[in-house]
Amino acid sequence: MTNSFPPETVFPACRLCPRGCGVDRRQTSGFCRAGDRTRVYTFGPHHGEEPPFSGQHGSGTIFFSHCNMRCLYCQNYPWSQQCKGRTLSDEELVCVLEELYRRRCHNWNMVTPTPWLPHIVEAVDVMRRRNIRLPIIYNTSGYESTATLTAMHEWADIYLTDLRYADPRTAAEASQAPDYVHIAREALLEMWRRKGPLQTDADGIGVRGVVCRILVLPGRAGEAIDSLQWLERHVGTDIPVSLMAQYTPAWQARQRRGWDRPLTIEEYRPVTDAMSELGFTTGWMQDVATDTPAPLIGYNMEAAEPAALVAG
Ligand code: SF4
Repeated sequence: MTNSFPPETVFPACRLCPRGCGVDRRQTSGFCRAGDRTRVYTFGPHHGEEPPFSGQHGSGTIFFSHCNMRCLYCQNYPWSQQCKGRTLSDEELVCVLEELYRRRCHNWNMVTPTPWLPHIVEAVDVMRRRNIRLPIIYNTSGYESTATLTAMHEWADIYLTDLRYADPRTAAEASQAPDYVHIAREALLEMWRRKGPLQTDADGIGVRGVVCRILVLPGRAGEAIDSLQWLERHVGTDIPVSLMAQYTPAWQARQRRGWDRPLTIEEYRPVTDAMSELGFTTGWMQDVATDTPAPLIGYNMEAAEPAALVAG
């Protein structure tokens, strides 16, 4: 398949995501601070994703360094915002995909892949030329450009996307993305138009489709309900929704009033009620952890060798 994101075209004026920086990433960097060579923090079988993705052997998760959001509560901040990780050549990225395949992972789960699409598409193409295929999960905050999504619609199999906010003021404060609500909703409509409901194989493993994650934020449960109502009106209730209660005040949220505490059961319950009342037919609801805080980094994941990738 032709690479829709050739490095020689993309990197001189990067507009891969809605930030539209237009910078030459060979010389400088834009909002995400990414250069023109792939950086990865760690990778391995991940057993904490939704069941159709983790399956028995784990989701083959690759945590890419850098991100086009700056969430003040980000659990992955050492690599998403502090940019820790190791620079990989295209050949090394192919080795990562090979390793995940060898470990019998059910998919290649690319976490925040957008800044690195030119190299990722190339590496997956090498695997496909060798007749090695796994479903590709595009695991994203939802802050994506519809032009980029359109260009890769034949390449990604599954979109695992967020609807993080319903109020632009919250998106501006928490992620420096005041246009997030509009952008993420448009992106989700495009994903849904291309892939539709989640399809699984005979073993219940996801092979194609869209799953929407909604992380319920402390003091902002109403925005999660707003997102559910928007989904019901504009997408329908057959989209699998993964309702998440795992918010933990990480990174700058520890010092930010209103963001410095976990979600409470009292806040979470109206959201689960709304999900049921609106008639969503598939999905998952996380329990609120009452006594154990959610693990912070790479939770429930076996890092693959070489673990040295974590060095940053
Ligand atoms: S991927 Fe990075 S450099 Fe490119 S447009 Fe987005 S934030 Fe800017």
